[in-house]
Amino acid sequence: MTIGAAQPNDNVPIVLVIDDCVDVHRLLAARLRNEALELVCETSGEAGIERVHQIEPSLVLLDLDMPGMDGFEVLRRLKDETSTSDVPVIVLSGMQSPSDKVTAFDLGAVDYITKPFDLMELRVRIRSALKMRHLIQMLAQRAQIDGLTGLWNRAHFDERWADETKRAERSGSPLSLAVFDLDHFKQVNDTYGHPAGDTVLQGVARLIQNIARQADIACRYGGEEFAIIMPDTTPEHAINLCERIRVAIIEADWHGKPGQRITISAGVAGSTGQTSIGRAEWIEVADRNLYRSKSEGRNRASMTDVGSKGPRLADAG
Ligand code: GH3
Ligand code: MG
Ligand code: MG
Repeated sequence: MTIGAAQPNDNVPIVLVIDDCVDVHRLLAARLRNEALELVCETSGEAGIERVHQIEPSLVLLDLDMPGMDGFEVLRRLKDETSTSDVPVIVLSGMQSPSDKVTAFDLGAVDYITKPFDLMELRVRIRSALKMRHLIQMLAQRAQIDGLTGLWNRAHFDERWADETKRAERSGSPLSLAVFDLDHFKQVNDTYGHPAGDTVLQGVARLIQNIARQADIACRYGGEEFAIIMPDTTPEHAINLCERIRVAIIEADWHGKPGQRITISAGVAGSTGQTSIGRAEWIEVADRNLYRSKSEGRNRASMTDVGSKGPRLADAG
């Protein structure tokens, strides 16, 4: 049952109520009517857990005393599972005993509200849990952004690469990885100084970000190296995108340095569907192609199709 906003809205947090008593659902719907949230309700622990997986709510309001799977068990299962362990849970309970509260907090609940609820208290506790979650998410996201370029950093790359390779394996969809390294970048630093080198890195990152598509994950892999994870992208399409980036970079004018050309070399490894290659080996293939681009003269891209038909090499540039 969904109460509140008829259309799911990305900006409105979804609060999932897991309580066997539908009167509680109605009461919460009435009392939270004016809050900026969408309320979704389930009447059993099992259905509640399934819903958490489905809708990834911003907050769960969880009853303890339910027939079948009780609230403690629901909490335990949510916290044991990586994909749901970050969802904050406020326990709603008619039970007043201190030991129940301690157990709930030990299991990972963020708050405990005793029924019957006081309207004001319920609202502020919900708001506070949602605010805390928002802050934690913001901090977690900031920890994965590279400070110099604003692209995703290496930690984010590692996480997303693991996710995207798993997703591609499950669905059999294409996936490509491109790695880039600026050519003779040491000379840029030596000639113009490190701050000017930083400005070039920022400019290159901006070009990469502008050319990459919405679904691509553009990262600063390290120093003067970048990487783009391209979900649902064949190696042919990936190398085309690398070409556009390579050309945009060589054509760019750098502030105060007329005539200075920056070039980039790239290596791509991609699959059109099924592949038996491992996640780490996939990166190694992209890296080998990058070094092949370097050794063959730089300012170019090399590609391998790592699909089940076996590796096939191609060049561009
Ligand atoms: P190659 O074409 O073989 O890649 O030559 P290269 O000079 O680019 O490679 P090398 O590995 O010798 O040098 C990389 C340079 O990148 C040296 C290092 O100071 C510079 N670098 C790495 N990170 C940064 C950074 O954050 N800012 C600046 N300005 N320079 C950086
Ligand atoms: Mg390098
Ligand atoms: Mg370099």
